Amino acid sequence: MDINENITKTLRTIKEGVTLIAVSKTKPIEMLEEAYKSGIRDFGENKVQELCKKYDEFHKDVRWHLLGHLQRNKVKYIVGKVNLIHSVDSIELLREIEKRYKKENLIANILIQINIGRETQKYGVLEENIYDIMEEIKSYNNVKVKGLMAIIPKGNKEENKVYFDKMYNIFRELKTKQFNNVSMDILSMGMTHDYLEAIEAGSNMVRIGEGIFGKRDYSKLS
Ligand SMILES: *Cc1c(COP(=O)(O)O)cnc(C)c1O
Repeated sequence: MDINENITKTLRTIKEGVTLIAVSKTKPIEMLEEAYKSGIRDFGENKVQELCKKYDEFHKDVRWHLLGHLQRNKVKYIVGKVNLIHSVDSIELLREIEKRYKKENLIANILIQINIGRETQKYGVLEENIYDIMEEIKSYNNVKVKGLMAIIPKGNKEENKVYFDKMYNIFRELKTKQFNNVSMDILSMGMTHDYLEAIEAGSNMVRIGEGIFGKRDYSKLS
């Protein structure tokens, strides 16, 4: 496993203007250090506890991205630690983020996660409910929506393209509209096995774990 080589190879395939997030969940700090030495500053985690631990132990100039489902009662732990929360999926969660960030006088940068495949087992806002979120956030002071995120259903290349295109269309549509506290700058989609198709469809932020750090072994985690 040569992390530096994986990063070099991946970066070579990524267009200018696309941000690469190294998804380091389940991986030890030593591996993150290798990625850091290769120039990576954006790291993605999907659990609050793991993110906070790595935040304390790792370089302070790193930008942390929270990718996994965020429970309302855990928001208080991440205030001031994350650069971008990718997984905002309900109005209740939004309210809690606004409340906690207001308390610390900080701004939360977030993405709205869209359940583009309408899968019951997945988190995310359904397309038709996006405008409720935009309405809710209008009066906020401490939350800024920077764009959208999606985890598409498992499928082949053509199926993936359908979902990536759908996401891009929603993103572009919202971009033409004016909402208070919303700027549609970031479209976060694409992982190890589909990031090239995602970029092709208009993604400007890809989240790559396995392709950089190798397969994850969940059995070793306590
Ligand atoms: C784990 C994870 C990734 C990275 O997946 P890989 O297939 O390892 O690249 C990306 N996005 C989210 C939300 C994840 O949970």
